[in-house]
Amino acid sequence: MSPPGPGWPILLLAALLPLHAIATTPLANTTPAASAAAAEFDALFKRLDGGDLLATSVPQAREAVARLQTLLPAGDEHRKRLVDTINCSLDYGNAYAQGRDFAQRQFDAALTARDHGAAARFLYCRASYEDILEGSNVALASLERGIKLARTDDDDAALAQGLQARGNMESVLGHYGKALADSIEARRLFTQLDMDESANRTLQDIGITYRRLGDQDKAHEYLELAIAHQQEVGDHASLFVSVLNLGYSEQESGHYEEALTTYKRALALADKTDADADQAAAKLAMGSTLVDLKRNEEALGLLQDAAAEYARLDHASGTGMIAFERGRAHAGLGQWRKALEEYSLAQTRLERNANTRYLERLYLAQAHAQEALQAPAAALAAYKHYLTMHDRNVRERNDQRTQILREQFETDRARLENQRLKNDKATQERQLETLERARQWQRLALALLVTLLIALGAIALRQLARLRSWRRAASVDVLTEVLNLRGLKQAVPAALREARASGGTLSVLAIDLDHFKRVNDRFGHPAGDRVLREIAHGCAQTLRDGDLLGRSGGEEFLAVLPGAGLVAAHEVAERVRQHAAKQEFNWLGPGERVTLSIGVAELEAHDRDMAALVARADAALYRAKALGRDRVEEASAYERGGDAAPP
Ligand code: GH3
Ligand code: MG
Ligand code: MG
Repeated sequence: MSPPGPGWPILLLAALLPLHAIATTPLANTTPAASAAAAEFDALFKRLDGGDLLATSVPQAREAVARLQTLLPAGDEHRKRLVDTINCSLDYGNAYAQGRDFAQRQFDAALTARDHGAAARFLYCRASYEDILEGSNVALASLERGIKLARTDDDDAALAQGLQARGNMESVLGHYGKALADSIEARRLFTQLDMDESANRTLQDIGITYRRLGDQDKAHEYLELAIAHQQEVGDHASLFVSVLNLGYSEQESGHYEEALTTYKRALALADKTDADADQAAAKLAMGSTLVDLKRNEEALGLLQDAAAEYARLDHASGTGMIAFERGRAHAGLGQWRKALEEYSLAQTRLERNANTRYLERLYLAQAHAQEALQAPAAALAAYKHYLTMHDRNVRERNDQRTQILREQFETDRARLENQRLKNDKATQERQLETLERARQWQRLALALLVTLLIALGAIALRQLARLRSWRRAASVDVLTEVLNLRGLKQAVPAALREARASGGTLSVLAIDLDHFKRVNDRFGHPAGDRVLREIAHGCAQTLRDGDLLGRSGGEEFLAVLPGAGLVAAHEVAERVRQHAAKQEFNWLGPGERVTLSIGVAELEAHDRDMAALVARADAALYRAKALGRDRVEEASAYERGGDAAPP
């Protein structure tokens, strides 16, 4: 095995990192062009959604919707629904029932698709038709449901629209506290979303509701802002309403001269609006202030004009208020009876419309007139009416103020709760992200660890192999590849112990090449080496498995034959000798032969160690040399340590 180089773990790490990067990169499924179109769609929809372009003109809005259609990404159901939310309020004009049915169908489909943002907008659209067809309470219920959906969907634009619509509806229903809370929250959300046009459109609603509640400072502040904006965009109808309301506010604060100037401005604006009642309303307002300024004759003239206009329009509330103001003008002129006549007319009209704020003032004015006419009983009766109405109005206003606080509290609470949920969600997402990242690092660390272990394992294996080869090299003769002396000394004692332990025997052969010096002399030392190696291989082949063969010296070998007695060992030695004698060394020269002399000795009971045994084998070898070489000799009795004397 080829051990891994030190660069391998780095390579593996490099291979893992891109995988890791791919795993964490969301697959891109849109082309840059498509996402640019989607971004333009979203920006344009945002303007239409907030009513930005709808307010200017219907043709302009239609043009914008057509552009939206061209930007619509293919197969994008959500954005397609968003286009339909605009169409819902644009396409049906006075066909209220069809508009409501369209809104209903689209709402059902959006809800099924769990597209809550679109579903909420379809509910608002439905509410606008329901308000006309079925009344404010039905519409209010749709708005409530839409607001709830927008909240659960975290769609602040839809939420702001719902709150704005509900605020307007609550204001019409006289729930000023709720109206104010909704309008203010809508404004805050629109501002936060950078939907400035929509934010600006809430200013008038807030100003008017504050005025009705009697908070004239706030009313003034908001109406001035609304006026500035309406002038800028040239929204004359709204501008007239804001200016008139600003005048009311100034008048209610006792700033009559200012109010008069403001009403004159409203009158000038009324020329530009299409609404018939606008001129009458401005004149009525001016007349009222002129009475406050004790310019009663002037007042009566203007009120006459207004009365004619209201009579033509059959405007009951307007007629009632005109009568009241005329009564005040007559009272100012000391014409008490005429005043009472007008008051009486006003009472019928205003009571019919339950105009409590005017009624309160009317009853008090009636009491004053009766008092001036020295009719204490009638004065007292009127005064009692006044007190009752006054109490009721004070209570109502207090209730409304309490309501504001409560609504503001509720709104803040809802906002905080929403914020808390958002934070919780964000925290959860962060925790998940951290966990995922930790897991990724764990996986990476694990991969690195495995790599490292593999590398270390490979290194350890290589070291082990080297150690083995070193060990082998240390006990093996380099030239002949049989055991060297050291190898023999290590292996032989074990064989000896085993033979003794098993009660078996063991023999050794001392093998020596004959006249080897001559080989060196004739053919050179390297040739001698080769002969030595080939003879050693021949011997090894001839021996059995389990026999040991080692090089004990220059051209001497020792064979250890476990289990072999002297006779068997002799036979083996003979085989070895014959095999060597037959080995051809034609590369030395034709017919060149090398012979062996071998001494055989068997283990004796009195042998303390190997040395005595080998010494006997050597002695036998010596004898083989002496007897003419190329032969095998056994250790004699003398050599075996017997009592016989040497020959
Ligand atoms: P004898 O038959 O009496 O054993 O004669 P011999 O020449 O074999 O014995 P001797 O002891 O006189 O010489 C041994 C020679 O073996 C001397 C030495 O040069 C040679 N020899 C010993 N080791 C090596 C070796 O590793 N390579 C070679 N080529 N020759 C060796
Ligand atoms: Mg020798
Ligand atoms: Mg020799």
